[in-house]
Amino acid sequence: MILNLSILPPWLLMLTLILVSACIGSFLNVVIYRLPLMLDNENISLSRPRSACPNCKHMIAWYDNIPIISYFLLHAACRHCQQKISWRYPLIEFITIFLSLAVYFILGFNNQMLAGLVFTWWLIAMTVIDLEHFLLPDQLTLSLLWLGLLINIQHLFTALSDAVIGAALGYSLLWLINNLYKWVRKKDGLGQGDWKLLAAFGAWFGWMPLFYILTTASFIGAIVGLMAIINKKAKLETALPFGPFLCIGAWLWLLTSPTFL
Ligand SMILES: [Zn+2]
Repeated sequence: MILNLSILPPWLLMLTLILVSACIGSFLNVVIYRLPLMLDNENISLSRPRSACPNCKHMIAWYDNIPIISYFLLHAACRHCQQKISWRYPLIEFITIFLSLAVYFILGFNNQMLAGLVFTWWLIAMTVIDLEHFLLPDQLTLSLLWLGLLINIQHLFTALSDAVIGAALGYSLLWLINNLYKWVRKKDGLGQGDWKLLAAFGAWFGWMPLFYILTTASFIGAIVGLMAIINKKAKLETALPFGPFLCIGAWLWLLTSPTFL
């Protein structure tokens, strides 16, 4: 590392982390909102058009765009037309801060933690997009895969050879499961985004953790599905996106694996 941040006092590190992750959370809101739109409309990008109120089209000034704080200062409404601002924006910012702090407290300040933060931010964007659109954009899954291979050149989480095998196995494992499902049920059970996502996790952590991630994801998915059926919010045929559960499984692995090693 060029900068040795670990000599900073812990409170200053924590404060820095809170401020950085609040801004990242704000950016994740943009990614979550715009990335699915960008797939259909090439006039939209992450930076253009500038953020505006969806109702009155007024540009949002920087002082009305401060993570979490602006939402409360504006009493959750647009400064110009009083249109309600969704609670989702501050919530995602808050979740980003909370999960980033969890990574810092559990992994300590080191290179694994820095990579873990980036990993966590990617997972937040993918989870919300998949919940909302049943979609895992290649821009997120494939970039995460390449990133995993790159960081493991330095053996950050696992050996590079293990990461390569993990990526290949992650993809083929879900491809196989999906084809078995298709053979029995005559329809797809998993999207190709899920295959790429598990490939990315293999690239980050190697092939063995994939079984932990898959088991955890299926277990949590089954509980959530069962609860939805009991609460009559879903039927047996109701489709649930699998990506968010895979993300939870992978995040738990990120935080617990150092204790296994
Ligand atoms: Zn407005």
